[in-house]
Amino acid sequence: MLLCGGLLSYFLIAGICYFSLYIMHKKFWAHLRLSRKAWTTLQIRSEIRASSLSLIIFGVFITTTYIARDLQLTRIYWHVSQRGWLYSLISFIGLFLLHDSYFYFLHRLLHSVPILRKVHQTHHYSSNPSPWAAFSFHPFEAILSAFFFPVMAVAFPVQRFVFVFFIFTMVFTTVLYHCGYDLLSGLFRFRERSWLCFFSWVNSTRVHALHHEFSNKNFGLYFTLWDRIFGTYKPVKMAYSLRYQNEDDIKTQELNREMDAFVSRTV
Ligand SMILES: [Zn+2]
Ligand SMILES: [Zn+2]
Repeated sequence: MLLCGGLLSYFLIAGICYFSLYIMHKKFWAHLRLSRKAWTTLQIRSEIRASSLSLIIFGVFITTTYIARDLQLTRIYWHVSQRGWLYSLISFIGLFLLHDSYFYFLHRLLHSVPILRKVHQTHHYSSNPSPWAAFSFHPFEAILSAFFFPVMAVAFPVQRFVFVFFIFTMVFTTVLYHCGYDLLSGLFRFRERSWLCFFSWVNSTRVHALHHEFSNKNFGLYFTLWDRIFGTYKPVKMAYSLRYQNEDDIKTQELNREMDAFVSRTV
């Protein structure tokens, strides 16, 4: 179950998003769609193939982490009562903060080291991602990403169900941020007005869509914290347009188009 739990969650969540937003109620959700560009069958097939392989790799790492627990090699514990409910809640939030930090710095490396940049092109093949693109990584990127699970389980005590629920939430959030529809636009309406607003610190589908469009911005996974600290945060304009008239952005879009062309030749 641990081996394929992530994969099953992915098919369930991405499937619901894809069929309810894009197939069954296309017109109803059309005003929230972030791009007019249609998803092609070739793109979706390639995203499902790469995401499935990534989640199998994640499953192998997660299962190994659990087996290592039986050998007393990790700090995963069995019963909530061992550390209490408050610790379970704090550790759940802590997992997201740690995972976001791990993802941010790994993601920066994937964009700055030439060989890793080539590896990361698999994900950027989707310049207009569909829900199926959530985990469309090159297998090597999936391995680098999956290292987070054993490292975290060795470093911090985590209750087993907190760990499983974190993985499910990770899949849900990642699919949501690639779904191509700004479903939370109401919640995030005031996000850019003040840094005091909670939602300006949380990532969203729009924020991540900007990373796929302008690959040198918005590297974070769940939060905007590290992007704000390192000056890589590109705020979302409410009058959202994927075509900003800024020279840097146009250069980045040209780079993205070159990357797309390279990937479509190699995929
Ligand atoms: Zn992405
Ligand atoms: Zn990227």
